[in-house]
Amino acid sequence: MNLEQLLKAFSEVLFSVFQQVESTEDLLNDKQKMALIASIIAALDELQAVTEQTLPEELTSAYTAGLSEAQAALQELLTSAPASPITATIAAAAKLKPVIANRIHLNALNNLISDTLADLKAAFRTARESAITTINDTIDVVRLEIASGIIQGNHNRVTAKRVAKAFAQGGLTSFITRDGKRLPLDVYASLVARVKTRQAQVTGAENRYKEAGVTTVRIFENAVTCPVCAKYRNMIVVISGSIPGFKTKNEVPLPPYHPNCRGTIRPVVMDFLSDAELAEAKALTAAFDPGKDNRTPAQRKAYAKEQEIRRKAREETKYYERMKAVLGDQAPKTVGAFRRMKRSNGKGWQKVQVEYLKAVRE
Ligand SMILES: [Zn+2]
Repeated sequence: MNLEQLLKAFSEVLFSVFQQVESTEDLLNDKQKMALIASIIAALDELQAVTEQTLPEELTSAYTAGLSEAQAALQELLTSAPASPITATIAAAAKLKPVIANRIHLNALNNLISDTLADLKAAFRTARESAITTINDTIDVVRLEIASGIIQGNHNRVTAKRVAKAFAQGGLTSFITRDGKRLPLDVYASLVARVKTRQAQVTGAENRYKEAGVTTVRIFENAVTCPVCAKYRNMIVVISGSIPGFKTKNEVPLPPYHPNCRGTIRPVVMDFLSDAELAEAKALTAAFDPGKDNRTPAQRKAYAKEQEIRRKAREETKYYERMKAVLGDQAPKTVGAFRRMKRSNGKGWQKVQVEYLKAVRE
């Protein structure tokens, strides 16, 4: 199983859990309630086992990709390097293929794996607790309202609706952000997995550079960059020791700076820089301000446009999933077909939209 398949498994398991909650007939019956909780816990346990098996493999392959990426970058660096003792040292080290079993790599990888698994273990624990408390607390409130006559009519149906609603809102919360956002398990797991695999790749490259005797790297970012990454773009960072006028990686962290960050690092040998390049690099370091957005208006615009396209695509996917859940076979077969239909806004689209709205209102 690879990362994408794992994240898909998260969505599927969570979806099936929601379905179980919705389809339990009598939640006021303790036996049925306990059976539902047990089944949710079992589904989460199984998902956790798959995660613990898959993620170490994914982190290892990301780290290995970082080693190879660094190897290629070292070769490239050497093609334009002037003859010097440093060049000779790097050339000698770069001749050997990187070995992941070396202590520097094994230690780094083991740390990454144990940090990642600890994060996810905590997320699963929180999700289990959220599931149990959401179900129990909601049912407790419903019972009180039934006893005091606030709820009339079909008790089972009211209970089922209330629990399903509460569960959808926070039943699988796995993490609460500093600003109070409740992240469901699949969202949080996907954040952690993406950031950590990216981090594994950058760390693999960093350690390969260190191993080859390279002490500085340049942060490399795409031209279309978000406000976070723009601050770090092209900065030279010292990865071992210290150099006056430059910052170490404790002062300026290496990528990733956020989920799906595309930032990476490239090797730099300070002795190879021209005076002008050195002055420019120093000026960039001196101007570094983690609180400031230093993009040009054109960069801002390009980034905003890219984000808008992505936002629209995500929205359409969500709409499609809802439509598919409601209409089944009557919905377009794939999200691609759905998208074409929606964007052309023809008769077929209008018809399916009417069907959908009708079904939702029922
Ligand atoms: Zn970014």
